[in-house]
Amino acid sequence: MRPPLLALDDALARLLAHATPLRDTEAVSTFDADGRVLAQAVVSQLQVPPQDNSAMDGYAVSCADLQQPGVLLAVSQRIPAGSSGQALQAGQAARIFTGAPIPTGADAVVMQEDCELLPAPDAQALPQLRINARVSPGQWIRRSGEDVRRGAEVLALGARLSAAGLGMAASVGMDSLQVVRKPRVALFSTGDELVMPGDVAPADMRAGAIYNSNRFFLRAMLLRLGCDVSDLGIVPDQRAATVKALQDAAQAHDLILTSGGVSVGEEDHIRPAVESLGELDLWQIAVKPGKPFAYGRVNQVHFIGLPGNPVSSFVTFALLVRPFLLRMLGVPDVAPVVVGARADFDWPRADRRREFLRVRRNRAGGLDLFANQSSGVLTSAVWGDGLVDNPPGQTIAKGDSVRFIALSDLLY
Ligand code: AMP
Ligand code: MG
Repeated sequence: MRPPLLALDDALARLLAHATPLRDTEAVSTFDADGRVLAQAVVSQLQVPPQDNSAMDGYAVSCADLQQPGVLLAVSQRIPAGSSGQALQAGQAARIFTGAPIPTGADAVVMQEDCELLPAPDAQALPQLRINARVSPGQWIRRSGEDVRRGAEVLALGARLSAAGLGMAASVGMDSLQVVRKPRVALFSTGDELVMPGDVAPADMRAGAIYNSNRFFLRAMLLRLGCDVSDLGIVPDQRAATVKALQDAAQAHDLILTSGGVSVGEEDHIRPAVESLGELDLWQIAVKPGKPFAYGRVNQVHFIGLPGNPVSSFVTFALLVRPFLLRMLGVPDVAPVVVGARADFDWPRADRRREFLRVRRNRAGGLDLFANQSSGVLTSAVWGDGLVDNPPGQTIAKGDSVRFIALSDLLY
């Protein structure tokens, strides 16, 4: 019996309904938290910057002293970054450096390029400063709290930490962060034709053999999403071997992810094997590339079976497995950003299925299409830097606005 064609959004909704967030959290050093998902909100206990400070190397002055043109100010102190000065008296200026606190009494900083330092009139006197520019109150002063106010939430619960996020956590004094534990994913590829690079040289490949490419990109995508990956290798196209692999994978994992063998052909053993151990829904998703896709459970462990064709595997991972894992990690918004972009290509033949075309942004601000959109042609995903999300039954003409998703958004 042919399983029903399922719209991608429906498949995603069904999948996400199963993705219960992981409850375990762990503390990690802020140094090591890149890519992790916060299990706490980070609230600042201080102002950043902590005090008003200079945005320039120059002189801190009071505008009230500068009413007459040509006045001379006595340079009474020097305030490098890391120290704090004394209050400024009337008629005085302070030599100040970027990041140093503004002394009380000063309300502007004049950059050194606009100042002239005159030698002290006698040995006891202070050096004198002439200012050759208009000075307005507040200039070149970075205000206390202009980045972060005390009590403000700087990073939200469920946020995925980026390089900038680590810097922010550090800037409010966090040396460790409570994050969601990594999802544990068991990965295996099925297919008697698969050979591992390194095991057989290209010149020695037997007829019908191909290298296992899916294993490499699926593993990399899982790692980038912050998973612990158990790579269980290649499983032959046999029922017993598939059952055995699934039983092993069902130990101590949150998700079993496979590629290939998920259709209903007699060499496709995933479905009966999963069904013999647990339950399985096989979906024919109305998406291209993609289509066969399975979700099920072995014991309490999630099972997801991806198609074997490399581009189908790649795209369905990005569109379905990625949001599933992010939801397990407690990330609230798992949808990729879709933007409008100009097609610099024609796509004259509409498909009944929703298509995800491999395209690349060009320097003219438009999108170029990779010529071969076949689901086996991994070159399209290497060449491309994004996908056009093309609705069912839709043709595209040069100049049309299309829906674009950057691969960089889908691969982290
Ligand atoms: P299947 O889904 O098992 O019917 O495989 C569909 C196509 O994808 C076949 O041409 C397979 O040879 C190919 N394929 C399956 N698994 C992989 C893999 N891990 N790496 C590269 N190609 C694969
Ligand atoms: Mg196969």
